[in-house]
Amino acid sequence: MATKKTESSKTTTEEKVNELLVKKITAGTVIDHITAGYALAVMQILGITGREGDIISIAMNVQSKRMKKKDIIKVEGRELTTDEINRIALVSPNATINIIRKYKIHKKTRIAVPDEIVGIVRCQNPSCITNNERGITSNFKVVGRKPVILRCSYCKRITGHDHIIEQLLGLC
Ligand SMILES: [Zn+2]
Repeated sequence: MATKKTESSKTTTEEKVNELLVKKITAGTVIDHITAGYALAVMQILGITGREGDIISIAMNVQSKRMKKKDIIKVEGRELTTDEINRIALVSPNATINIIRKYKIHKKTRIAVPDEIVGIVRCQNPSCITNNERGITSNFKVVGRKPVILRCSYCKRITGHDHIIEQLLGLC
């Protein structure tokens, strides 16, 4: 009983308001602390259209102590893979991923931008070997994290945050 009380007193106003905005889910994934305004970009990167039939809640520009404003996505009945989490990291490096099972947080992951990005992004340099020879996977060193900036391991060309997003959204 005492434990329960402590737990509920720890629930901040921020959490309560956010729960009202996006209701609790039985099982699935909550992507929290998304950079404000990027929820739809994250959805697109994950290939979630809403036509899959899963229950999805999105809240944009809600209050956050840590970030002032943030976006939240809740997807019922789906747990994200490591590859999907890496893609989110490129767009929203502050995000946290909560895997929910039976209404409880089963696993909480704070996204970490890896030191190396393999295969997700294309090099911007048209004459880069990764764009011209088959069987060579793109490979980037992460040289900036907030926002993410990548340097091609082959030709050293820099790919910036805006370009990464455009690529992941299929705009270029
Ligand atoms: Zn290159």
